[in-house]
Amino acid sequence: MRTKHFLPVIVATAIGVGACQTAPKQTRQVVKPVFSAADMDLTMQPGENFYQYANGGWMTQNPLPDAKSRYGSFDKLGEENRENVKKVIEKAAAEKGAPGTISQKIGDFFAAGMDSAAVEKAGITPIQPLLDEISNISKREELVTVISSLQRKQFAPVFHFFSSADQKNSDMTIAGIYQSGLGMPDRDYYLDDSERSVKLREAYHTYMTTLFSLIGNAEDDAAKMTETIMAFETKLAEASNTRMENRDPHKTYNKTDVAGLVKMAPEFPWNQYLAGIHVPAPGDVNVYQPHFLGEIAKLYQSESLETWKTFLTAVVVRESASYLSSSFVDANFDFYGKALSGKKAQEPRWKRVLGATSGALGEAVGQLYVADFFPPQAKVRMETLVENLRIAFGQRVDQLEWMSAETKQAAHEKLTTINVKIGYPNKWRDYSDLTITAESYVTNIMASNEFDFAFDMSKLGKAVDKEEWHMTPQTVNAYYSPVANEIVFPAAILQPPFFYLDGDDAVNYGAIGVVIGHEMTHGFDDKGRYYDKEGNLNDWWTAEDTKLFEERTQVLVDQFNAIEVLPGTFANGEYSLGENIADLGGLCISYQAYCNSLKGKAQPEKIDGFTADQRFVLGYSRVWAQNIREKEILRLTKEDVHSLGVNRVNGPLPNVQMFYDAFNLDASSALYIAPDKRAIIW
Ligand SMILES: [Zn+2]
Repeated sequence: MRTKHFLPVIVATAIGVGACQTAPKQTRQVVKPVFSAADMDLTMQPGENFYQYANGGWMTQNPLPDAKSRYGSFDKLGEENRENVKKVIEKAAAEKGAPGTISQKIGDFFAAGMDSAAVEKAGITPIQPLLDEISNISKREELVTVISSLQRKQFAPVFHFFSSADQKNSDMTIAGIYQSGLGMPDRDYYLDDSERSVKLREAYHTYMTTLFSLIGNAEDDAAKMTETIMAFETKLAEASNTRMENRDPHKTYNKTDVAGLVKMAPEFPWNQYLAGIHVPAPGDVNVYQPHFLGEIAKLYQSESLETWKTFLTAVVVRESASYLSSSFVDANFDFYGKALSGKKAQEPRWKRVLGATSGALGEAVGQLYVADFFPPQAKVRMETLVENLRIAFGQRVDQLEWMSAETKQAAHEKLTTINVKIGYPNKWRDYSDLTITAESYVTNIMASNEFDFAFDMSKLGKAVDKEEWHMTPQTVNAYYSPVANEIVFPAAILQPPFFYLDGDDAVNYGAIGVVIGHEMTHGFDDKGRYYDKEGNLNDWWTAEDTKLFEERTQVLVDQFNAIEVLPGTFANGEYSLGENIADLGGLCISYQAYCNSLKGKAQPEKIDGFTADQRFVLGYSRVWAQNIREKEILRLTKEDVHSLGVNRVNGPLPNVQMFYDAFNLDASSALYIAPDKRAIIW
């Protein structure tokens, strides 16, 4: 159930040139102070380590809480915003709405989660019916019935089954099948012999043995069951694509139908499975990893029934553990929190339950959230900023020396077509058919998962609903969707340190402006560039332009591959390329938009002692201020497409001339990159 909001295609989340040609001097704008010396480290030379210079004080003043593996200005906003979401939920709960109303559902979901006495008393009772279903399997034909029953509750034991836009016909919704089944979050953790992977395997072993014991198995039996699932999951890991392979939109586009599934993975009983998930005729299906699916089908027949039953039991307990009684929650935290990320303590219960409530009733909470916490002026100012960024991006496309007129024309068309969503959806999701009671937390979560799955399946074979959002308004993040060619900025990101409603332009262009530019650039990064203006996988580049683009992006790959994140561990320049292109593009485009905003007038006077250009760079850098644990550095370097905060600042900035000009840096600076070695892409 951890993977509830599984969206493989959308992705490309979050956020991630010379000086303006103007005459000097302009009247000071009246603004609130944003930067103070106390948040910086003025003992550090900006050209030595700009990230430390800009954020050193902030990092000292905001030490890592025990419950965090990373704590940055981004996360701090998340914490502050959580207080607002809490107010929304408490207000809804206080209304004591009639059964079936939104306020009743929000109030009861939260109350059931907070009733820790009831959760402790229930133990494994809420998942017992599922465990019984599994243990009652007596022949192979019954196996698929249970797999599909679990699928309807979003456990995705062996693969995810979901709806998504067809990547070559992006107006239509088709089914997708995506690899799944691993308890550890990367195939390499099962397969490689690095010290870290060996340790993680040991910790995972302990975790699963604890879970098997907690559901009533003797210690010896629990240990044997863990051996069984380790061997089984290792086979799944071997069959799984790597993260790099999964970033390849062509390799993961394999459209077929039910007859094709039968051919591709003949040992799996597809018709029974599809009937079991209540989608007997799904129509077209995209199989992201055909090899994986073929192997799953073979395992369906070749593995013993006992192995399958042990594995399905593992999936159910593992995915439910964080919602069950404290012994399950603690075991879950020991692995996913401590061993993987280095956290020292769990978040307080109210924060965890709040997250679950906000996830299960996302747009219901969101609707109340925006009414109380999203000023309409923020949307208006944001709309202007986005259009200014679009204009600036177009100007930069025109100026590109390496791109042909033909590809430029197509780039312009794609840029003009980008759809923009700001704040919250125009129409809200209907939760009428979801039943929530104050009785059982886990039962509510399973009901919500089943409701979401049915909703997802109801879209198959229909036109894509272009009004739908794939992030809730209360989420501090943003995304670009290549299949929709759209950028989306939820209400919650339109707050400091991203967006200063009363702030000066330089800071806002450096912060939210770069975020906008970042998301736009995703349409033109190493992956997004394969999608055309309609969101279809359809190459619009000339061969020569592709070659020149790849030469330029290789410079960025090499720069990041050379960054040692911890002694002996290097950043992955290939895997993080799309995000790094987006950060660099975002900086260049937003700076151009800022220069445009001056309309030839002089830059404003210094504020807080910094010039406008300096404030642009500081505004950008502050977004990425963070403290982070070593284990989290290692985990993110393996699992996350985004670069670490320090490298999102010190990585792209030295490729941008205005950075040197703003802080009077020359070739003697440690961060200096000679002009002919810089990555200049968008
Ligand atoms: Zn991104």
